[in-house]
Amino acid sequence: MADAEVGDDVLDGDPTVHRLEQEVAERLGKEAALFFPSGTMANQVAIWLLARPGTEILLDVDAHIIHYEVAGSAALSGAQIRPVRGSGFVMDAEALAAAVRPTSKHVPRASLVCVENTHNGAGGVLSTAQELGRIRAVARRNDLPVHMDGARLWNAAVALQVEPSTLTTAADTVMVSFSKGLGAPVGAALAGDRALIEEAWGVRKRFGGGMRQSGIIAAGALYGLEHNYSRLADDHAHARQFTEEIDGTAGARVVPPQTNIVMIDLPAGTPGSTEVAARAAAEGVLLTVWSPTRLRAVFHLDLTDDHVDAAARVVVKALGG
Ligand SMILES: *Cc1c(COP(=O)(O)O)cnc(C)c1O
Repeated sequence: MADAEVGDDVLDGDPTVHRLEQEVAERLGKEAALFFPSGTMANQVAIWLLARPGTEILLDVDAHIIHYEVAGSAALSGAQIRPVRGSGFVMDAEALAAAVRPTSKHVPRASLVCVENTHNGAGGVLSTAQELGRIRAVARRNDLPVHMDGARLWNAAVALQVEPSTLTTAADTVMVSFSKGLGAPVGAALAGDRALIEEAWGVRKRFGGGMRQSGIIAAGALYGLEHNYSRLADDHAHARQFTEEIDGTAGARVVPPQTNIVMIDLPAGTPGSTEVAARAAAEGVLLTVWSPTRLRAVFHLDLTDDHVDAAARVVVKALGG
């Protein structure tokens, strides 16, 4: 990052940012990509481009876009959210099809479908190309574009042992993060058709996301892609290792992890998740309180097998095991 070649990406371009954008477009099988300071901004720019004011966006009930983007789609794009509950962990094609309303003068028209892969709130659950293809078919039948919140798409591709581009054909636009599993300090990207990404440039500027010598942070993102991509499999192995060591402790149940996120469900009548998280934090292990009865653990590139063992011992004790 210190050695990155930089320009002015608001004025006439930054060579390192361009290199990153080309690399991302290629890996995602899209014509173009645009660098963003955050995944949230990239999601919201996609929504601004694809959804229309006074319409609704169909997406999974636990989506990041619903719960952690401070009502951005309502505030910035004037579109309402329509949460869709799937029969399994995430919204499926059947649930989506059922949520599309028959045309009427009285009801909101849908304008956009969003998918999240992997799905954070569901516990890093991945969607296969086949599942995504079925969602896309429903969207196409109803003339709806698809945006993919792929903050954690790299994890899905590594876990499925496929190229990321095989998972993006179902989507018109794809957001990916560099600051999650890939370990870069800052950044996300939005990929799609060239014309749409050109339009996204101006919207990003309007949202305050035009960045000047951004090659410095783009270099960190490139480093993450080049050096930390394949090792995401280690994070997945650590999530499984941790699960084996804690599942069943004091009645706690763990959703079998598909990637690097482990959700721990506490039985009723035991100390709540806030108390368990406080006990673990006191011994140096940080867990996210997901709900009064659910904790989230995320595995990342700074961990060794021994760290995971030590963390599991702390969590077992915190659970009362
Ligand atoms: C982290 C995350 C985001 C948002 O990314 P930021 O860079 O933190 O704004 C969006 N969607 C999912 C699924 C995420 O995990």
